[in-house]
Amino acid sequence: MTPRTAEVVICGAGIAGVAAAYHLAVRRGVGDVVLVDERPPLSLTSDKSAECYRNWWPGPGDAMVALMNRSIDLLEEVARESGNAIRLNRRGYLFATADPDRVPRLVQAAREAAALGAGPVRVHAGASSDYRPAPAEGFEEQPVGVDVITEPALVRRHFPYLARDTVAVLHARRCGWFSGQQLGMYLLERARDKGVRLVEGRVERIDTTGGRVGSVTVSARDGRATISTPRFVNAAGPFLRPVGQLLGVELPVFSERHAKAAFDDSLGAVPRAAPLVIWTDPVRLPWSGDERAELAGSQAHRRLLDELPAGVHGRPEGAGESQAVLLIWTYDVEPVEPTFPLPVDPTYPEILLRGMSRAIPALAAYLPRLPRCFVDGGYYTKTRENRLLAGPLPVEGAYVLGALSGYGLMSSNGGADLLADHIAGHPLPRYAGAFSLDRYDDPAYRDLVERWGDSGQL
Ligand SMILES: Cc1cc2nc3c(=O)[nH]c(=O)nc-3n(C[C@H](O)[C@H](O)[C@H](O)COP(=O)(O)OP(=O)(O)OC[C@H]3O[C@@H](n4cnc5c(N)ncnc54)[C@H](O)[C@@H]3O)c2cc1C
Repeated sequence: MTPRTAEVVICGAGIAGVAAAYHLAVRRGVGDVVLVDERPPLSLTSDKSAECYRNWWPGPGDAMVALMNRSIDLLEEVARESGNAIRLNRRGYLFATADPDRVPRLVQAAREAAALGAGPVRVHAGASSDYRPAPAEGFEEQPVGVDVITEPALVRRHFPYLARDTVAVLHARRCGWFSGQQLGMYLLERARDKGVRLVEGRVERIDTTGGRVGSVTVSARDGRATISTPRFVNAAGPFLRPVGQLLGVELPVFSERHAKAAFDDSLGAVPRAAPLVIWTDPVRLPWSGDERAELAGSQAHRRLLDELPAGVHGRPEGAGESQAVLLIWTYDVEPVEPTFPLPVDPTYPEILLRGMSRAIPALAAYLPRLPRCFVDGGYYTKTRENRLLAGPLPVEGAYVLGALSGYGLMSSNGGADLLADHIAGHPLPRYAGAFSLDRYDDPAYRDLVERWGDSGQL
């Protein structure tokens, strides 16, 4: 049965909506929260993630790093109180390069991250350094900040699986991965213990008579029902825009298609204890002479002979006997209208494996006969400058938590914590303005968005 009244109705039970329900009900004591989703919880985008986290974010300003540090603090709290049910690790992100010209830029990037609050920089320029590798499991008592290793012999000692010509690595330390599904289920269960009700149905109408939220109409299996409520949270993921339109609010977001591939690394090319490895140089895919000739004659695939952008990355996945490896490469980002099921490019796994073999050459052993790959993905729904939206909308009682882009699992707690402060009327953290919709009312900010540099997307 759909309830008739609620203090807060949240549209969307992805990680954004679930985290919002948890922070409102469990950590702010808000009663009578209703979570509405037409799909099973966490099943649209939130179970397609690579489940990584990082406090490594560019400026301008320190808002992203501050929000992410808060989000990671909250993730660590959940890990501690749940006996690490979310399997949080701290293996780090390892950015690698074979281009000597890029090395000073890595050191500079580390210094900038330190200035933004990511933690101190340690440059290891000699073979006898005190670089401390990350353990495979656990997250306690690990260094924060960044290690930059600029001595190739030291790189080889600690990361022998990287390409022989790797000249430097940057190891960002307050980073790693966790089980996003376990996180979502944990937050949802705690929220339900505090009375949050989950309604299966589609939000179809929101009454905003007099410029304020009055009720939300949901079409559910047992028919249509109207829930009287003074507050509504739009956490509709890739459907943020159409749900915003139900309030008469145009949200400045768009979506890109992103996919990941998983395969069984039966040859052990990627060590099971490896961090997330990111190749920071552009890549020319390795092809045989015959393959080159064939591609050159194909209109659709000729571009695979060109240099592809930097950023192919991958990591081992799963514990125990698992041999799975995840690979991702964002080499094709066009804004698209979200449609489901996600259309998948059949050449994607091969392109990924070829690209990642530049960083980890042992992967090239799979190229003559590709392993079976499992591809899935979803949409990065994002703002132009790739900063999420958390806060009030210009209709009284209406709020948004969305545009979580490619970092929604890691930022969900920080974003929901901020949203809950807005709703509960608590003092706001100093980074709140950087994530509220009204930042675009400021002409200077709109100007800055036009000139925005690195958006931090991997
Ligand atoms: C390939 C890939 C890799 C990624 N890797 C990472 C990573 O390593 N780390 C990380 O932190 N993040 C990662 N992400 C991003 C992360 O997965 C997303 O940011 C996050 O899942 C978005 O959560 P959401 O709750 O906003 O959206 P969703 O999970 O899509 O949830 C939105 C929900 O709203 C519901 N809904 C929409 N409209 C309505 C309506 N009218 N009525 C009822 N219900 C409605 C939908 O049914 C859906 O369940 C990745 C994403 C992809 C695609």
